[in-house]
Amino acid sequence: MQFIDLAAQYQHLKQRIDQRIQTVLEQGNYIMGPEVEELEQKLADYVGVKHCISCANGTDALQLAMMVLDIKPGDAVFCPTFTFFATAEVVAYAGATPVFVDSDKQTFNICTADLERRIQKVIAEGKLRAKAIIAVDLFGQPANYIELQCIADKYGLKLIEDAAQGFGGEIDGRRAGSFGDIATTSFFPAKPLGCYGDGGAIFTNSDEYAALFRSYRVHGKGKDKYDNVRIGLNSRLDTLQAAILLEKLAAFPDELVLRNKAASQYTGLLSAHCGTPHVPSGYLSSWAQYTLVSSDRDRVMAELKEKGIPTMIYYGTCMHQQTAFKDLGYADSDLPVASALAKQVFSLPMHPFMNQTQVAEISAAVLSAI
Ligand SMILES: *Cc1c(COP(=O)(O)O)cnc(C)c1O
Repeated sequence: MQFIDLAAQYQHLKQRIDQRIQTVLEQGNYIMGPEVEELEQKLADYVGVKHCISCANGTDALQLAMMVLDIKPGDAVFCPTFTFFATAEVVAYAGATPVFVDSDKQTFNICTADLERRIQKVIAEGKLRAKAIIAVDLFGQPANYIELQCIADKYGLKLIEDAAQGFGGEIDGRRAGSFGDIATTSFFPAKPLGCYGDGGAIFTNSDEYAALFRSYRVHGKGKDKYDNVRIGLNSRLDTLQAAILLEKLAAFPDELVLRNKAASQYTGLLSAHCGTPHVPSGYLSSWAQYTLVSSDRDRVMAELKEKGIPTMIYYGTCMHQQTAFKDLGYADSDLPVASALAKQVFSLPMHPFMNQTQVAEISAAVLSAI
């Protein structure tokens, strides 16, 4: 059994993907070929925003957002401590200070009450400029953008949606990638929409930001790439990856339905016996992960492994516990919910090509282990 079965997906789409790759190889436009623009248009339409700018990976997408928002030393950027490293890394790389926020007990996303307390504290202390919030759509479920946007407006902060795991999610019919001032996503193979290498994208409704992103991703180009008007990056999406993503995006709506079917089956079988992921009403998750909590995680995971069922821990180390951030001086007691989650979470196999028998088998093994 696979944790995520990318080979099964490839078999399903093989003819169409192979044809797309062949076309790119024959036409020879390996960098910024026509597939890149076609994909950007289709992604913008799917998400429901004016601009999509593709780039080399999800981390660069966030880094480019830091550049466009002019995040710099002396700025405070608020982000969850319970996330993948890249969310906080780009803040520190820009020379700014990440301010870590605890998790919501029910959704595991950024806790808006703790966020507001930390913003007020930064403002009261007066050492850093409160500048932006990066919220994360953890495990595929959008963060609470209704409250997050109110907080951002109240304190004059920019809001960034890190939708690396959230592509396909929704709040009241509005899609992930459309929240905040800027949203970013990743096409790392294991994400809900993945390519066959690294890839990423940025979404925004702002014409001004979109023009800056297009410049920053190609060496800060002006009228062309040999006219450089600012310091940028080399961060383009390969034409081959765009071609692959065009076929994967076409199949994505059906896959999203299948992921949600597998998740409902898990929840139906497990929820009477253990805590299962909480999806608030009006929210749709893209189920990047199906995550459970157990105070006896190691034993449960070992029992599943004996039965041939792979599980993973996302995440065993919070940002405030990372060696790279130890100088920021956080204690676990400052971020109690996230610190407890890091000791207890584990994720079950989740992908669109799981059948009902497999979900039932995994659920039975979980029930027997707990
Ligand atoms: C995967 C991920 C990223 C980074 O994406 P890459 O394409 O691997 O650079 C950023 N944020 C979150 C929350 C992620 O899960």
